[in-house]
Amino acid sequence: MARSPSTLSSNIEELAREVSTRLAAEYPGSARDLCALDHDGAFQLLVATILSAQCTDERVNSVTPALFARYGSPELMAAASRSDLEELIKSTGFFRNKAASLLGMSQALLNNFAGEVPHPIEQLVRLPGVGRKTANVVRSVAFSEPGLPVDTHVGRLSRRIGLVSDHDPVKVEHRLTAVLPPDGTGAFSLRMILHGRAVCRARAPRCADCCLADICQSAELPEGHEPSSRPSAKAGPRSAEAAQR
Ligand code: SF4
Repeated sequence: MARSPSTLSSNIEELAREVSTRLAAEYPGSARDLCALDHDGAFQLLVATILSAQCTDERVNSVTPALFARYGSPELMAAASRSDLEELIKSTGFFRNKAASLLGMSQALLNNFAGEVPHPIEQLVRLPGVGRKTANVVRSVAFSEPGLPVDTHVGRLSRRIGLVSDHDPVKVEHRLTAVLPPDGTGAFSLRMILHGRAVCRARAPRCADCCLADICQSAELPEGHEPSSRPSAKAGPRSAEAAQR
């Protein structure tokens, strides 16, 4: 039986689990299955995720085959010529900064971790070019460990649905992590990203086609259009912040 938004929003943990269950049905698979970045192993995923900043996954996947053919390990990349590296990744944007990050990150892996990508987030975020989002991608996808990357889609959807009211990605990560099963956080994040691209778009969310419409605090449906699971007494759109009160 469908539950009203107010009932669900009174319990964020229950709401989070319901969202997680529904998105898992829409976008099945593990975090590894759902990751759109082509890679072979943790190091290549780390490289691809650094390149994905301000860039589409498709663009990253178009440059990594040639990049990994030449510099597919920390040893090879640490010894790469900066100009060659820049040329190979130029189309991903911000290529000078990204080349510096790839060189620094590879050298740090060799100097501090015997050429292996570390698992603890505290060690990952000390690598050049690696923030919490990138570290959590590597932890959840490459190592199948808890990690919830928060990008613009995850933040926007979480606020709209009513799971959080924060705008700080670290706070969003911690709030979501506190109410989700640890082994599902990476896949949850990737599903939110897929849903944000396909349905809950930034400018024109397609609420009428959304599997979360009857539990989302921000659902807006066209007049006369009610999804089958939505309560007949429409509560009307409410702010995401309302769920925190
Ligand atoms: S109901 Fe609308 S606002 Fe809510 S998650 Fe779905 S598309 Fe986004």
